[in-house]
Amino acid sequence: MAVSDPVFTLADLERWSRPGTSLAVLGHPIKHSVSPPMHNAALAQLGRNDWRYHRFDVHPDDLPRALDTLHAKRFHGVNLTVPHKIIAFDRVAAVDPAARPIGAVNTLRWSPEGWHGFNTDGYGLAAAVHETLGVDLAGAHVVLLGAGGAARGAAVECLRLRCASLWIANRTRENLDELLESLTPLAAGVPLHGFAPATPPRDLPIGSLVINATSAGLRPDDPLPIDLARLPRPAAVYDMIYNPPLTALLRAAAALGLPQANGLAMLVHQGAKSLEIWSGAPAAQTAPSMSVAARAALASA
Ligand code: NDP
Repeated sequence: MAVSDPVFTLADLERWSRPGTSLAVLGHPIKHSVSPPMHNAALAQLGRNDWRYHRFDVHPDDLPRALDTLHAKRFHGVNLTVPHKIIAFDRVAAVDPAARPIGAVNTLRWSPEGWHGFNTDGYGLAAAVHETLGVDLAGAHVVLLGAGGAARGAAVECLRLRCASLWIANRTRENLDELLESLTPLAAGVPLHGFAPATPPRDLPIGSLVINATSAGLRPDDPLPIDLARLPRPAAVYDMIYNPPLTALLRAAAALGLPQANGLAMLVHQGAKSLEIWSGAPAAQTAPSMSVAARAALASA
């Protein structure tokens, strides 16, 4: 899926002289990102006519130079996506306390001292599962699939909001153990367990929220991250993937009659929270226009 907004490069950035307030998303690859139409729709809604959101394809090796240049060019805010969130964490002047345990930042705001880093993914996830599935992470039994950056943000948010229990499954045991070890100090009494996706424990709670935070499902030939038929039911399933809109996991959930939703609402809500950090406009005000724009961009691409 390609989106019609231009993709800029580091060379474009070095020549950048656009007046007004500039925002950017950096990723590698970035050509599938619907963040520019999504943010630009919200900026139009807010009447910020001299604000514009752009996307840049930046190789991870070039990220430090890109961040320095964006700061020197006075970009007001930056979003970071794969694979930059963790690399940028060590390169910001200040980190929001809520982002520290995640070890990754997806939102930067310009300050004279340097970039101020935030992470809005956890907010986006919590708002998305509430909106799409009617589930609150607080008090939920959560089965989280994956141990990468997105899973880490999700796990920290589940523990911060005091979910009832957190069960994490990952293909590579070593990565799972590393994640569990770093989460243990944050658990504060919330039961925290790890398991291999092929062998779900018998005592998984009934009525869990299953969250796919693996990248399995992005490609048509990907394996299922878990066999939902082996989990106690009823359960609800949230897949962070939004393109394709219906992954094999979501199809399996539908076949079992389970409530399910894809990652589009998470994309929208994390984006609206970033815009709130940059503009002060409440996320709840801009999320609806962002949602319409993101859906339209995905449908037309
Ligand atoms: P990472 O590369 O950091 O982590 C990937 C995870 O997926 C790892 O746990 C990896 O397991 C697992 N995995 C990869 N391939 C397979 C496979 N074939 N079978 C089983 N497990 C697999 O990626 P992120 O954490 O940054 O992103 C994960 C997903 O979340 C992506 O699809 C991304 O698009 C989505 N996402 C969506 C957002 C939204 O707003 N909707 C926001 C952020 C992310 P292992 O340890 O074994 O390698």
